[in-house]
Amino acid sequence: MSGQVQSVRGMNDVLAEDMPYWQKLEGAARELFAAYGYQEVRVPLVEHTELFKRSIGEFTDIVEKEMYTFTDRGGESLTLRPEITAVLVRAAISNGMLHNQRHRLWTAGPAFRYERPQKGRYRQFHQIDCEAFGYEGPDVDAEMILLSARLWKTLGVERVALQVNSLGTPESRRAYRGLLVSYLESRRGQLDEDSRRRLAGNPMRILDSKNPAMREVIDAAPRITDHLDPASRGHFEGLCAHLDACGVAYTVNPRLVRGLDYYTRTVFEWTTDALGAQDAVCSGGRYDGLVAQLGGQPTPAIGWALGLERVTELLRVSGAPAEGLPPDVYVVLAGARAEAAGLALAEQWRDALPGRRVVVHLGGGSLKSQLKRADRSGAALAVILGEDEVAGGRAAIKPLRSDAPQQDCAWPEVPAKIGTMLS
Ligand code: ATP
Ligand code: MG
Repeated sequence: MSGQVQSVRGMNDVLAEDMPYWQKLEGAARELFAAYGYQEVRVPLVEHTELFKRSIGEFTDIVEKEMYTFTDRGGESLTLRPEITAVLVRAAISNGMLHNQRHRLWTAGPAFRYERPQKGRYRQFHQIDCEAFGYEGPDVDAEMILLSARLWKTLGVERVALQVNSLGTPESRRAYRGLLVSYLESRRGQLDEDSRRRLAGNPMRILDSKNPAMREVIDAAPRITDHLDPASRGHFEGLCAHLDACGVAYTVNPRLVRGLDYYTRTVFEWTTDALGAQDAVCSGGRYDGLVAQLGGQPTPAIGWALGLERVTELLRVSGAPAEGLPPDVYVVLAGARAEAAGLALAEQWRDALPGRRVVVHLGGGSLKSQLKRADRSGAALAVILGEDEVAGGRAAIKPLRSDAPQQDCAWPEVPAKIGTMLS
């Protein structure tokens, strides 16, 4: 077999020109999590299939048709994680972190869903994910939303809006579900095929339908916010009061149900009008029952996940251009003797200039072509080693971003000279 090896559909390479956006987002998130007292953890990409079936729910799109599931060589059914919340719950249980303890955690990395690839929707995508265990809220619900709001502020992202809702407890939801099903049965003729299929398994997901033809039926449906149990109502009012006090704008959307079964009480979603159809950039909610459902000590919990592809795209379309860090110094090595001495000299200069970015030209070429590359690299200075310089133990330092004159000095003085010329 020959020919070009193809990439897997829906799985992307993130190339150097995109990285500044990724790093800007990841860097801002990392700093904010530290500032709010969230600790970073790393968890596997692969889990027992059962974890996702038992958490996300059998009748969800993810479990029904989107999981990358395979049997390993030992005969076990494993799945590439389609989301990270369930994995962090499993990790907290497996590591005995939930006995009268509280944790605020975050992690980042890829997730996998066999969806139809399109702009903003991929089969391997990346999430930043945070979860809090052991807090009953609604203070933590508010804090998590505040953290995400501050992330937008830090990044200069403006075209995002927050929707919140409460799904109540499993009991109040069951009662509401009954009402919803009888309503939807009465309008069966107006339901699309997808919705008719969901009517039996997961009727609340019908509220989430993106089919415009379903709009009218959905708008007239009973609202979950009118059927909350008193404790959930109080919790939701508490959250709204915190958000009001902190000046975070939001809309209550009684049709926001989210695609996973484990949510209880608070759910929320940040959407944008800047990216077209795939408009959800960060979503989350409370899942007070999930830890116990997966065999852990009953523990209230809440979390959110943000889609890196969508948010970096948002940075690209709405923010200032993010640029990578250009070198401080580009070392030009003209001739065999310069090439022989260059790597060792650059190491000495790096030792003397910690934190400075010193890039060495590799692969030879004329002085002219190397200077062209030095210029294209964006470096502030070129340090030039030619035959004459090497013979005399000297280097020429040329400012590339100003008309200041080139300077010449002995090798031991190069770091100090670079330091002055850069400052
Ligand atoms: P959507 O409504 O767009 O399908 P979702 O509700 O399935 O999103 P979550 O499971 O809540 O998404 O995941 C959290 C975030 O991850 C989303 O807000 C979105 O930014 C991102 N995301 C989800 N699925 C994908 C995907 N297939 N490709 C890229 N990003 C995704
Ligand atoms: Mg989805």
